[in-house]
Amino acid sequence: MIILSAGPGPPSLSLANRVNETETVSKRIDLDSELESRSIPNDVLHEICRHALDVAPEECCGLVIGTADDRFLRAVRVTNVMTKMHVADAKAFPRDARHAYYMSETEYLQAIGEAETRGEKVSAIYHSHFGHGCYLSQDDLAFAAHPLFPFPDAAQLVLSLLGNRVREIGIFEPTGAPEYSFVGRRLEAAN
Ligand SMILES: [Zn+2]
Repeated sequence: MIILSAGPGPPSLSLANRVNETETVSKRIDLDSELESRSIPNDVLHEICRHALDVAPEECCGLVIGTADDRFLRAVRVTNVMTKMHVADAKAFPRDARHAYYMSETEYLQAIGEAETRGEKVSAIYHSHFGHGCYLSQDDLAFAAHPLFPFPDAAQLVLSLLGNRVREIGIFEPTGAPEYSFVGRRLEAAN
């Protein structure tokens, strides 16, 4: 499950108000093994893996900043504050940071602002699944399809962690189809 706050003004995204909006999103999306993998600079991939391992068994989350020519320039860690949200309101936030993430709004807005100042953008967002596979879950999909989702054009990177190692990394890219779906491929370090 992934959840982001929408800030003051618009209603915040939460599982509580999304549950009834997810009927059109029926199942998770796995990696398509028939498709060629995509590549990402080794240092960016290393930083994302490091982040995932640093916070395990909690889920990590963050952004990948890039440009039209250089899609993956660097990763920006964002604090997963889901445990804090869960402790404050367990009914609205039934899971903690081991099973869901909630990006610190202050941090991701700051990262977006800095990127825009440099003429860059958020090319991808990332999060990890500890003890689970590499796929976009039903909740991940429901969130991405939400009208308040802050990164509608971004790809989603998912890291699958097993024990103390990263088992698999996938990139899920929006297809551009009206029903808003994704295609998943393996992600590898560029040479
Ligand atoms: Zn997920």
